[in-house]
Amino acid sequence: MPAVPATAARAAATELRHRIMNNHGTIGSPSAALTAQPDDGAPFAFTVAYIGIGANLGDARGNVADALERLQRLPGCTLMAASGLYRTAPIDSSGDDYINAVARIATTLGAEALLQALHGIEQAHGRERPYRNAPRTLDLDLLLYGDQQIASATLTVPHPRMTERAFVLVPLLELAPAIHIPGKGAAQQYAASVADQGISPII
Ligand code: ADP
Ligand code: MG
Repeated sequence: MPAVPATAARAAATELRHRIMNNHGTIGSPSAALTAQPDDGAPFAFTVAYIGIGANLGDARGNVADALERLQRLPGCTLMAASGLYRTAPIDSSGDDYINAVARIATTLGAEALLQALHGIEQAHGRERPYRNAPRTLDLDLLLYGDQQIASATLTVPHPRMTERAFVLVPLLELAPAIHIPGKGAAQQYAASVADQGISPII
């Protein structure tokens, strides 16, 4: 979803601004925000972003749940929705099975600032990077940032490997079945190509 200017959705923006600034409450779905009543009508813009969450060290399930809580509390962000938790076998990696989920947030942060904030949450869980694809207490990847395509030294959006990974696509499609990946088209069309990757929902 692209950044939404206040002129296009003032009611939604006003409601969401209060939630983001005050960091209280969750929004069950985008449509809940879109039906909110306007009050001061102040200019405001936010971006909807999707975050991939994974962990396979320590209390992986607890770490993913805590990451969702921290996303909700993050200044300039509010948690709009979270997928269920999934268990997946490591891909290009080692160690225990992963616990994965995807979150949808609304944020006033720019993409680079959001990535830094995600790294801060990883650090709070003692994330270390001893070697590429090492087991991790917590990994937060910025999958989608509005409809933007970004290629900087530190950030590539959409996440370059998101269409190759069931642990991203399956929870993402649970949250947003019709989601479009900028430059790549409907996420749904990639589901078949990852169907052989082991992934199971945690009931
Ligand atoms: P992994 O690719 O296994 O998630 P890391 O979490 O260690 O590996 O990330 C390595 C680097 O990838 C980070 O330092 C970050 O700057 C960069 N990066 C580029 N694009 C993204 C993105 N969309 N989301 C998260 N990290 C990204
Ligand atoms: Mg990462």
